[in-house]
Amino acid sequence: MSRFMSPCFTGLEAYTPGEQPQDQQYVKLNTNESPYPPSPAVVAAISAEEVSRLNLYPDPTGRVLKEKLAALYGVKAENIFLSNGSDDILNFAFMAFCDSERGAAFPEISYGFYPVYADLYHVDCVKIPLKEDFGVDYRDYCNIDRMVVIANPNAPTGMEISLAEIEEILKTNPNRIVLIDEAYIDFGGTSCVDLIRKYDNLLVVQTYSKSRSMAGARLGFAIADAGIIADLEKIKYSTNPYNINRLTLLAGEAAVESNTYYMENARKIAKTRENATERLRQMGFTVLDSKANFIFAKSNAVSGRVLYEELKKKGVLVRFWGKGKIEDFLRITIGTPEQMEILFAKAAEILQEQKGD
Ligand SMILES: *Cc1c(COP(=O)(O)O)cnc(C)c1O
Repeated sequence: MSRFMSPCFTGLEAYTPGEQPQDQQYVKLNTNESPYPPSPAVVAAISAEEVSRLNLYPDPTGRVLKEKLAALYGVKAENIFLSNGSDDILNFAFMAFCDSERGAAFPEISYGFYPVYADLYHVDCVKIPLKEDFGVDYRDYCNIDRMVVIANPNAPTGMEISLAEIEEILKTNPNRIVLIDEAYIDFGGTSCVDLIRKYDNLLVVQTYSKSRSMAGARLGFAIADAGIIADLEKIKYSTNPYNINRLTLLAGEAAVESNTYYMENARKIAKTRENATERLRQMGFTVLDSKANFIFAKSNAVSGRVLYEELKKKGVLVRFWGKGKIEDFLRITIGTPEQMEILFAKAAEILQEQKGD
């Protein structure tokens, strides 16, 4: 740190992204990317001709993409906000709707970026423990009078809360935003998007990074009452109006046209997940019931750290935190069936080797 940094940030603990090795030597099951490529239409949208137009700014309103997403989700374009990945939307939401008086609440075990944003904006936040079974207890968020942020399905557990439970949280916090982060919704969960008609405090956030195979393009969107969207637009136009580049906008539009392809991939991934859950349980793992494109699992024989490190030596990368209640758990992204076979084989080898020690 230099001596020029504002003192209000010197204590800030930044988010640590998962490892992104650039040499492609790993079976990469650590950051919940899709194992499937973007659709042919998306690849074709990034033509040499479009690249040659990069001298021009993109449309800051993202009008065409907003209209396509609105049609897909049965809402109006005024109900859609677009941004540079959904992290950007989370950032804007904390900036817009929280401060030292307006606090936030989120699960203690959830997406690691929530506490970072809360710190960034000096937001008074409560981190609510999960239930014994790792589920979110919706009652903890009723009448809390803070911005509620819940990933549904939650990460890294993969577990879901019901629409009725979300509705209770919305009803009992009418003067606060309830942000439901649906990054993993397409893998078998039930979206709460339709509730935006009934609740003007609901902010649903989704991303192209997981089910739509576009983590590298950086595109996220939010769906909410037009009032909330206008607030987010105000923040965007006060920070970086051109925050989505031309190529990403085009890719995002083409991906909406290819929705069937992506939803089919999501179904395939869900099927692979069910099989992986079964297989790992047979190998003596505890595996939580997941509705996401990852599973949260721990071995009954080998510590999380040993398993993570040995898998890495054998070329399989998974996500490991190694602290607290989740100390021995690994978060394993669902890859192709072939990638999962490699994971099972390497995990079996490790269990065998550790037994021999
Ligand atoms: C991956 C993820 C995001 C962020 O994704 P972007 O790539 O920034 O769109 C947001 N929330 C959760 C819970 C995630 O897992």
